[in-house]
Amino acid sequence: MYVLDASAFINGNASLLKGYTTPEVLSELKSTEANAYTWVIGERVKVEEPLPYFIKKVRRTLREIGETRLSAADVSVLALALQKRLPLVTDDYHLQNVALYLGIPVYDTGFGLIKRIVKYVWKCEACGREYPPGTRVCKVCGGRVKPYSFVISVVDDTH
Ligand SMILES: [Zn+2]
Repeated sequence: MYVLDASAFINGNASLLKGYTTPEVLSELKSTEANAYTWVIGERVKVEEPLPYFIKKVRRTLREIGETRLSAADVSVLALALQKRLPLVTDDYHLQNVALYLGIPVYDTGFGLIKRIVKYVWKCEACGREYPPGTRVCKVCGGRVKPYSFVISVVDDTH
C-alpha cells in the first residue's frame, strides 16, 4: 500500500497503484491527458482527505526547510502519507525531499530518487542577508533574494 501523487498515476505501473490518494491529486489528474488511472479509483486506490493536524504539520515543515514550491496537492499527499504511515510514490524531487525529511519512505516510478536531503536558506544574492522563505527582493539593497540549498543528510537508498 502506498500514497500516490499524480506522477505515480501518469508514470507508474499497475503494481504501484494501490493504496490512497487525495481529491487534490484527482483534480490534477483530470487536467492531464492521462486517463489510464480511472479503473483503479475506488477499487484499488481510495480517495481520502488528510486530517488538518497533518496538513499543519507539513506546512510547518515546509517553512522550517524553506521549501515554497509545493502545490496544495503535494501538501495533501505528504499529510496523508504521514497520517497513514505509508510510503509515498512520487517522481517530484522537491516532494521526495520533504517526504524524506519527514521520515516518510519514498518510491519513484523509474525516474530516480534524490541522493541528498536539503534545506533552503533564502538570502540576498548581493548582500547576503537572510530572509523568510518566498521573499523576492532584499529590503536593504534591492538585490534578488534566492533559495540556497545545503545538504542536511545523504539518502540511504538500500530499500
Ligand atoms: Zn541585499
